[in-house]
Amino acid sequence: MTRLFGTNGIRGIVGPEMNADLALKMGRAIGTSFGGGTVALGRDTRLSGPMLARAAASGLMSAGCDVIDLGVVPTPCEQFFLAKSGHLKGGVVVTASHNPREFNGIKALDARGMEMRREDEETIESIFFDGTFHVAAWSEVGSIRSDDAANHQYLEAILAKVDVAAIRKSAFTVIVDPGNGAGCVVTPYLLRSLGCRVISLNGQPDGAFPGRMPEPIPDHLGDLMRVVSEVHADLGIAHDGDADRAIFVDDKGSFVYGDKSLALLAKAAIQGRGGTVVTPVSTSSLIDDVVGAAGGRVVRTRVGSPIVARTMFETGAAFGGEENGGVIFPDHQFCRDGAMSAAKMLELLAHEGKRLSSLTAALPQYHLKKTNVSVPVERRDAVLASLVELTKGRKVDTTDGVKIVEPDGAVLVRPSGTEPIFRVYAEGRTPERAEALAKEGADLIEKALGRR
Ligand code: MG
Repeated sequence: MTRLFGTNGIRGIVGPEMNADLALKMGRAIGTSFGGGTVALGRDTRLSGPMLARAAASGLMSAGCDVIDLGVVPTPCEQFFLAKSGHLKGGVVVTASHNPREFNGIKALDARGMEMRREDEETIESIFFDGTFHVAAWSEVGSIRSDDAANHQYLEAILAKVDVAAIRKSAFTVIVDPGNGAGCVVTPYLLRSLGCRVISLNGQPDGAFPGRMPEPIPDHLGDLMRVVSEVHADLGIAHDGDADRAIFVDDKGSFVYGDKSLALLAKAAIQGRGGTVVTPVSTSSLIDDVVGAAGGRVVRTRVGSPIVARTMFETGAAFGGEENGGVIFPDHQFCRDGAMSAAKMLELLAHEGKRLSSLTAALPQYHLKKTNVSVPVERRDAVLASLVELTKGRKVDTTDGVKIVEPDGAVLVRPSGTEPIFRVYAEGRTPERAEALAKEGADLIEKALGRR
């Protein structure tokens, strides 16, 4: 059967791939699989969001579901709304997360606010492809109402989970760059509630993304890094388009790779109590060193936050997250949460009484280099197969993609679940080694493509 859902919902370019027809049918299929009941609906700031969300809402109502329209919300806000309400059937989010502005997407959430299990996605896919939609009778058609309190409740819930007094006392200066995405409606207000002096960049919701592209990577965060250093701020915070991720810039204006912030947050989460930390195979070995030293253990999974969250839920993990800034705090909720990560980072800085640049400098030093190589979707499987072939005889881990492990570093090469690219994650004990391993990974892809 054809797959509809990728690692994080359905994504595509608005118009040819992601359009009203698809959103309507997705709404009908998801509503049919829920079998009625009440469903939350939220979206990020993308220009096509209202069009797709209304189509999805029509589909849900036609299948007999009542819809609560949350409007523009960070994805973790909708997830919290579901987790807290406890009686909704699930949720639909219209977002393309970190993807470029021409994209949009749809993902389905379960009653707990978690990304759906693969089996449940397959049920929706089969309804979608077989056309076995439930068509509600005239008297059973669903209703729709708006709820604009979700963002406020979410913000209050985060405040209840951090040491507000300690953070307030530190009176941090923070530059926040939500990148005109859904984070605009929560994070600047959260930071103000935490007593920070807040300067927002790209702080107005705007799906044209005039300030920067939605993915929080160094190439897109030049303004944030410059402003943090110019105003001598304590911290810079950037989100992706739906604010389930948070990436940090230190007090010197340097980009902090998500592997490092993850390690620091992991240490704070398990210090003194131990526990399991769940992270995908793409995260730097740094996490093993830091978690091991703090008395915890690391469990590795395939790449994708739904897998990390599900594994955490099933194993009762203390903490988890990814190298891209997606961090999961299980006593808050089982999903990545950008605003929560921001609050927890401030709490960590307040408790440690140290600057982020000195905390990262004290970590075991791994140098990271991440790049992408574009690979047409139709060649993905063939490229992956030849990568396995090309690395025969070497020490490799094939949990997800191909990870070549060397005594002084490693490089993981794997296809993105949402874009026509292969991602290359390299780490080395020196910057040169990381560069060399990243180049080797990229060269292997080129070779597999027959370009070399
Ligand atoms: Mg996201």
